[in-house]
Amino acid sequence: MKIYNTLSKKKEEFIPIEEGKVRMYVCGPTVYNLIHIGNARPMIVFDTVRRYMEHKGYDVNYVSNFTDVDDKIIKKAMEEGVDASVISKRYIEECKKDMAAMNVKPATTHPLATNEIGGMLDMIETLVEKGYAYKAEDGTVYFRTRNFKEYGKLSHKNLDDLQGGNRSLLVSGADQKEDSLDFVLWKPKKDGEPYWESPWCNGRPGWHIECSVMSKKYLGDEIDIHAGGEDLVFPHHENEIAQSEAANGKTFSRYWMHNAFLNIDNRKMSKSAGNFFTVRDISEKYDLQILRFFMLSAHYRSPLNFSAELMEAAKNGYERIVTSVGNLNYLLENASAEELKDGESALLEEAGGFASRFDEAMDDDFNTADAIAAIFELVKFANTHAGQESSKAFLKALKEEIMELSDICGLIVEKQEELLDADIEALIAERQAARKEKNFARADEIRKELLDKGIVLEDTREGVKWKRA
Ligand code: AMP
Ligand code: ZN
Repeated sequence: MKIYNTLSKKKEEFIPIEEGKVRMYVCGPTVYNLIHIGNARPMIVFDTVRRYMEHKGYDVNYVSNFTDVDDKIIKKAMEEGVDASVISKRYIEECKKDMAAMNVKPATTHPLATNEIGGMLDMIETLVEKGYAYKAEDGTVYFRTRNFKEYGKLSHKNLDDLQGGNRSLLVSGADQKEDSLDFVLWKPKKDGEPYWESPWCNGRPGWHIECSVMSKKYLGDEIDIHAGGEDLVFPHHENEIAQSEAANGKTFSRYWMHNAFLNIDNRKMSKSAGNFFTVRDISEKYDLQILRFFMLSAHYRSPLNFSAELMEAAKNGYERIVTSVGNLNYLLENASAEELKDGESALLEEAGGFASRFDEAMDDDFNTADAIAAIFELVKFANTHAGQESSKAFLKALKEEIMELSDICGLIVEKQEELLDADIEALIAERQAARKEKNFARADEIRKELLDKGIVLEDTREGVKWKRA
């Protein structure tokens, strides 16, 4: 399996630190608003990377943070007259709903910055002790960038070029820096802002330190993969490397993966530019599986332009797979022969070739565009060779192969039949009758059957109520 490493600018063979295990950290969103579909790109892309690695047999420890203390969160909290934690909690919940709707698996751990302040103070203290950080007069603690000799190795920037072009990075209090390249680890509080006590001043962390600390705590000093959108290469990831490697004295991450932007009219989609659609907006028009399909139809390192036409193309593509699975289900229900018939084994062997092609594409730096093309070929093959004469074993094997490859992409391609309200009511009536006859086994069976189809029952004094989960 080859991964393009931003650090070496090359595709490299993936060799994990510990055999059979992957330690992976993905920078998560700052939570002050509903996420937009640009934020969704890294979520979908790296969830797919994780799924593929799990398919290969790796045990993946996947950590993704929520940045829950930040200027934008504080500003929104002040506008609403509530505590910053009210805002961050609200949007973490909303973000988790969007992730679930896009079939993005929850991370092994989703740490929150505000729960990890102790670890941040420890790391900053270590950096001060080692001479990599210093306190300015106003209490701000800066990282002494020039002391970290390898600074710039990820973004391939030269320190002196940075020095010249660095004016835009100047922040308040920056006149107290020893060097304009130095960046903030800890900053003094302002009125009305959340703050924590520290040896330097009452204040809050700079943004970069949280990821160094959470990665260390949940994955160890050395990890396999660190990932995020390409805007994070500089300064965020460059600064994370400086902090972690200076503090721990070890290589921070072996592989650095970055997704290209999701654009709209060839400009990066972003909250600040105002040119965005939230995941919620898209869900009003499309099944979010189609959004997922759209994201995976391009290689993750290629820019992807969002447009109505491309979403329609994604819809057609996704539905082609769904229709094929539906067709196989129909044939399965009506097939008479159980065992493989003459010639079907050979066909299944041929079909296995599409799975190999899928793996080859994914092994080549997660080329999901080619991987989806392999699924399409398999679908075409199934549509050609599956028919009323096919055996159940043959149909089942074809269906399972399509389902497995789609599942690695996180695509749900088997549509559950939606129960109509009338069917639900009828089953509830049957359950009530069963209970009256003290046939509790049947009553429980019906409750479970409904639950499997996403219908939750609630027994109340006024009778049984139900809702779709
Ligand atoms: P933010 O909340 O802005 O820190 O972003 C969270 C994640 O989304 C980071 O990995 C960003 O790099 C990524 N991201 C933000 N905007 C886009 C975009 N338009 N296209 C792709 N990734 C993006
Ligand atoms: Zn980060």
